[in-house]
Amino acid sequence: MVMFVDVAHMRGWMAEHGVETLIADLIPHLEEDFRRWPEFDKVARIASHSPVGVIELMPVADSHEYGFKYVNGHPFNPRSGRQTVTAFGVLADVQTGYPVLLAEMSLLTALRTAATSAMAARALARPGSRVHALLGAGSQSEFQAVAMRAAVGADRVRVWDTDPDAIDKFLRHAATLGIEATRASSAVDAVAGADIVTTCTADKANATIVTDAMVEPGMHLNAIGGDCPGKTELDAAILHRASTFVEYEPQTRIEGEIQQVPADHPVTELWRVLTDAAPGRTSPDQITVFDSVGFAVEDRAALRFLRDSVAGTAHCTDIDLVAEPRDPKDLFSLVSPALAASRV
Ligand code: NAD
Repeated sequence: MVMFVDVAHMRGWMAEHGVETLIADLIPHLEEDFRRWPEFDKVARIASHSPVGVIELMPVADSHEYGFKYVNGHPFNPRSGRQTVTAFGVLADVQTGYPVLLAEMSLLTALRTAATSAMAARALARPGSRVHALLGAGSQSEFQAVAMRAAVGADRVRVWDTDPDAIDKFLRHAATLGIEATRASSAVDAVAGADIVTTCTADKANATIVTDAMVEPGMHLNAIGGDCPGKTELDAAILHRASTFVEYEPQTRIEGEIQQVPADHPVTELWRVLTDAAPGRTSPDQITVFDSVGFAVEDRAALRFLRDSVAGTAHCTDIDLVAEPRDPKDLFSLVSPALAASRV
């Protein structure tokens, strides 16, 4: 039997613990895995592109556990009532190759993306950051807002989206979360004077959600929406005066904001900052960019965190996913007509 966390169980788990608590608890697990980065067998995710979106497989393993996530990115989906991003994932035992956990990951991805943003902001944003500009008020937005409050105390949010209904939705949730949120009149209005700027828009374009002129000294940019070839959010000029931090450089070169700059443009992998192998922020005026695309190590950490938290609780069930004949060499016994007849 394989542990199974479906949408209902995931919702129950998140409701019981609270999203903010889970994000705060997940961050140390992410940090731990980032600090042992060289131990992972890593590969840039495998993407299948179409004119309207992308479907990706994200595998990673250490010597104990293998994880993968199936995830899509379809920015036009909301027009037909579907989400931009959905996902599910698997954790498996490296010794036997058997899967041990199958889980929904649309919700879990939002949680892990927010926790990863928060981990990066904790390492890179100016101490005392309070004002968080949020550009894009879709599915990821509340998770991002809560994460920045939990990790760095950024408790004032200025939100902007081209869809006024999305802003209304965000403000409703912010009120229930006790977040001091205000509706900006434009991206420029949201960003002016902010300490942290999160871009989480969805478009299949090299968009310029943040122009170079909008970026002030000392800002930390948490750019999560530019995560596919031809899909970026920042003015490339920003990258030329900022210090840029990435997850796994080979993947980010293909998918991140840095696809807009030459291949030798300097970047720092975040794990090196977390292990003190490279500097993070070095001055209050430095502009830092976390060029987030989402990496498999984060999903695997989130799956392990989920497994350890839900094991033995009502927030999971079992699924009969692996065919297991009594004799491991006799798979046919499970479908043999003779045996089926003898069982009648
Ligand atoms: P979503 O479709 O639910 O929300 C996106 C929002 O952006 C929408 O409300 C839309 O109206 C708004 N928007 C589009 N263009 C805009 C513009 N020019 N200015 C302001 N707002 C604009 O998508 P989501 O699930 O919230 O994801 C947001 C982005 O984050 C997507 O691009 C997704 O691919 C990406 N993402 C990245 C990671 C990561 O790990 N880096 C993880 C999950 C999602």
